[in-house]
Amino acid sequence: METLYIIVPCYNEEEALKDSSKEFKNKINQLIKSKKISKDSKVLFIDDGSLDKTWSIIKDLSNKDSIYKGIKLSKNKGHQNALLAGLEYVCDKCDMCISIDADLQDDIDAIDKMVDDYYKGYEIVYGVRDSRENDGFLKRFTAQFFYKIMNVLGANTIYNHADYRLLSNKALTYLLEYKESNLFIRGVVREIGLNSSIVYYERNKRIAGKSKYSLKKMFNLAMNGVTSFSVKPLSIITLIGFIVSIFSFMIMVYTLIVKFTGHTVPGWTFITISIWLIGGIQMLFLGILGEYIGKIYNEVKNRPKYFIERTTDDEK
Ligand code: UDP
Ligand code: MG
Repeated sequence: METLYIIVPCYNEEEALKDSSKEFKNKINQLIKSKKISKDSKVLFIDDGSLDKTWSIIKDLSNKDSIYKGIKLSKNKGHQNALLAGLEYVCDKCDMCISIDADLQDDIDAIDKMVDDYYKGYEIVYGVRDSRENDGFLKRFTAQFFYKIMNVLGANTIYNHADYRLLSNKALTYLLEYKESNLFIRGVVREIGLNSSIVYYERNKRIAGKSKYSLKKMFNLAMNGVTSFSVKPLSIITLIGFIVSIFSFMIMVYTLIVKFTGHTVPGWTFITISIWLIGGIQMLFLGILGEYIGKIYNEVKNRPKYFIERTTDDEK
């Protein structure tokens, strides 16, 4: 039977953990009972440098019940890094893992469907929010704006999918091949390929406590998502430079016409043409520099170029 690890990053979650830890345990026990997962399945908490009692709660839990495990990061490294720490930690311990937030905003019952999909042969199962009615206006607005902008700027994400997902051990091993230091997990998971499916669920209100994603953290996540996935912003500079350059030629024609029809003071033509021409050329060259930086950037990331999922030898 296959082993499941539920991975839960926690930052100042003392209020939420009391209830959510029980829910996670119940879910695991229920799945063990229905013989879907092995008895070695666990819940792993990652304490992301919390300032409250989160770590002592996690320690208590794991002392009382071996179903709970915990790791503690030296300081607050942010949700994505905490999640990654957990994923690396469980990589050699489980056949599948599910990452979920500590606040139970994501419907825990979707786990059953995810596990079912795993047995159907899907290596990655994305949890996708059906609606955001329980989110506040600001959260809904910023989040939805985020997904739209990200896709326009070239980051590859699934609309309304955060980090609630199941990864098979194979998908997890592939994911960990991405060695870049700014790993935008939900984008990279899509780069892996493999068989994937989607499970829809309703998003609830936080079980307790306040959101740990400040506007600043959200902004950083969005910026990281865009800049770690595409060099489109650089290409946009080139495009603008090109347009301004063309425009400057039109300005040139216009100023010459004005000059020869005699409606101008001496020197105006020269200055106007210079401003436009130099501006356009500068921007164009900046863009070209950017294109090279983009190339260097992609090389430096040293991403894996491919994964060989199976060979004909496996099919025998
Ligand atoms: N989190 C974390 N480190 C941080 C911020 C958040 O590990 O620096 C965790 C947090 O404990 C929670 C998850 O990331 O389990 C999602 O955070 P939250 O629910 O506050 O975000 P929201 O649902 O408001 O987007
Ligand atoms: Mg939340």
